Amino acid sequence: MQSKYQQQWDEVINNLKEKFDSKTYEEIIEPINTVHKFEDNILYIIAPSLFHKSRIEKFFYEDFIEEILNVCKKTYDVKFIVEDEIKKNLHEQLLTQSDNLPKLFRGNLKPTYTFSNYVVGKFNRFASTTALKVAEQPGMVANPLYIFGGVGLGKTHLMQAIGNYVLDDSKDAKVLYIKTEKFIEEFVTSIRTSNKSLFSKKFDDIDVFLIDDIQFLSKAEESQIEFFKIFEELHNKNKQIVVTSDRKPSELKNMMDRLTSRFEWGVLVDITAPDLQNRIDIIKKKILSENINEEFITKEAINYIAKVFVNSVRELEGALKRVIFYCAMGNIDCSLEVAKEALETIVPEKNIKSINMNDITERVCAYYNLSREQLMSTIRKKEIAYPRHIAMYLMREMLDAPFKKIAYYFGGRDHSSVIYAVDKIKLNIQVDKDLQKAIAELKEINFDS
Ligand code: ADP
Ligand code: MG
Repeated sequence: MQSKYQQQWDEVINNLKEKFDSKTYEEIIEPINTVHKFEDNILYIIAPSLFHKSRIEKFFYEDFIEEILNVCKKTYDVKFIVEDEIKKNLHEQLLTQSDNLPKLFRGNLKPTYTFSNYVVGKFNRFASTTALKVAEQPGMVANPLYIFGGVGLGKTHLMQAIGNYVLDDSKDAKVLYIKTEKFIEEFVTSIRTSNKSLFSKKFDDIDVFLIDDIQFLSKAEESQIEFFKIFEELHNKNKQIVVTSDRKPSELKNMMDRLTSRFEWGVLVDITAPDLQNRIDIIKKKILSENINEEFITKEAINYIAKVFVNSVRELEGALKRVIFYCAMGNIDCSLEVAKEALETIVPEKNIKSINMNDITERVCAYYNLSREQLMSTIRKKEIAYPRHIAMYLMREMLDAPFKKIAYYFGGRDHSSVIYAVDKIKLNIQVDKDLQKAIAELKEINFDS
């Protein structure tokens, strides 16, 4: 018979299928399928080769830990070993190596989900500044804090950042993070096994209650009633409650009114999709936090990834991980070509498009901190007119757009003004170093050139 740990591990591996694209899964995750032993709360897993082992540890360790927690409901550490090591009994060597791994146990909070690892931009600024205030003064500023937004945009990360911050601030604080599905599951089990008081006790003396993906509470009527009770008790005691959801409270279906109205009492903050510059910043931050030398990846490759993966931060991260792994396998640096190659099978078809006038506008606005309205206006102030001329120049240069088309795009002005603007920028580039740099940076976005 298979051991309990082997069965659990099989489930971990199987669940990870959803997290990765099929190629990554088959090449990297699936082969790590054998449990060697379980000892001192550590699962020892056999890796096919030393190379595989080192890659797995570097890039996928956290994914395994997270999934082990999901499956086993406990935090086990995991170590990867290769068969040779078992034979030679290099136990000690393994132990010292493992000291270099990140420290991961912090209740069920992921230690890397911190504010310092969280990239802030227009898309999440209000949410993240409010979250930080909440973390600094739990129960005092926004209670409940209700964070909503689409999949993979950083809700769980932000929520756990609050928890991690509170724990950094005070070791004794009790932070409880729970996914709504788990809350329901535990509650239902507690009724079945007549252990309800034990279940409620869990929430008795916590200081910060983080409940993730509350939309799953819809329809679960009994659980809603229980949740409401817990909510009221904690709220009355001024304990901080943080809720995440994929939608606003008013859009939650099949949810008790008194519950949605409680959510409305608090502060609602939303996270939207990151724009191009945000996505570039996120990639750069991830590279830094992986301790990877910046020179490993070219700007063009970063721009390419940011241009193509637009829907969520999770998607963006997945793509970057894949690229890094691909390069590590081949022991090569990451140029634009290599990034394209690595991502070939997972790039969303519709996103392989070349740059257009709107992209250039968006980019120039972001670069000069102007709104689209300002750039498109007829205001002649230099701070606005100059970037406008640069945008016209780039449209000509990068898209080979006819002057008339550019003139039409900018509100139907006379096309001779566009010719004048483009010529002026061309001349200035020759003498103005700052302008040269700006143009170079703005152009880099065109990954197809
Ligand atoms: P959600 O809960 O909204 O579905 P997550 O919080 O799970 O999204 O985020 C998905 C992934 O993207 C996580 O690995 C998270 O660390 C990362 N992420 C999301 N937003 C940011 C951000 N602003 N800066 C850095 N990483 C982020
Ligand atoms: Mg989430």
